[in-house]
Amino acid sequence: MQITVGVSARHIHLSQGDLNILFGENYELTPERYLSIATQYICKERLTVEGSKGRLENMGLIGPVRPHTQVEISKTDGVKIGVIPPIRLSGDIEGSERAILIGPKGKVLLEEGVIVAKRHIHMTERDAAEYEFKHKDYSMVVVKGLRSLVFDFVVVRVAPENTHTEIHLDTDESNTADLQTGDVVTVLHVNDKKLRLEQLINMFDERQLRVLEQTVAAILDDEKRRLNMMEEMLKILRT
Ligand SMILES: [Zn+2]
Repeated sequence: MQITVGVSARHIHLSQGDLNILFGENYELTPERYLSIATQYICKERLTVEGSKGRLENMGLIGPVRPHTQVEISKTDGVKIGVIPPIRLSGDIEGSERAILIGPKGKVLLEEGVIVAKRHIHMTERDAAEYEFKHKDYSMVVVKGLRSLVFDFVVVRVAPENTHTEIHLDTDESNTADLQTGDVVTVLHVNDKKLRLEQLINMFDERQLRVLEQTVAAILDDEKRRLNMMEEMLKILRT
């Protein structure tokens, strides 16, 4: 299955409580552009996020407000400002990283809520049925080109409001694979419960297959050697 890529730049989701502190009492966000998931929009407002080593300024907000404030950055962003966010699905923020949010009207010390978004596919119910994926299955996504790679552990999120199937990556992932929003990648028709060997083998070219064969042969040799050693030891123990 061919699907499109959506690259998520770093962004913030705010709770109404934090919005009030940062922008003023009863403040309402101003939509600037609606996203591919049509209930969400990028806002005109911007914020600064501060860690122990630096700041990310001019960070975009995504509305509408949510029950909990969440800051989604890349690992590279984290290194820059001195925070170490865990890789999590959106909404799973318990025990995640902290930071300070700075707005025009105030500051918020966010005790938890800074995460690196776990890569995921928003899948339509139709595609899920056709390709036998269930909500929360893991899938593998193949990227071609000079920076070809396989993204494994891509969580599939099936929901009735998904109008098309799209993979969401952060900027570290998209740069590593040389991908941009709108590019097309391939989802293998396999999930974590149903790995098919032929499909895995089809991913590799001749040269890669030869390397794999050599690697597997080396592993087998090593295992044989260990087995022999254990047999020797058993012999000694028995005598
Ligand atoms: Zn997403």
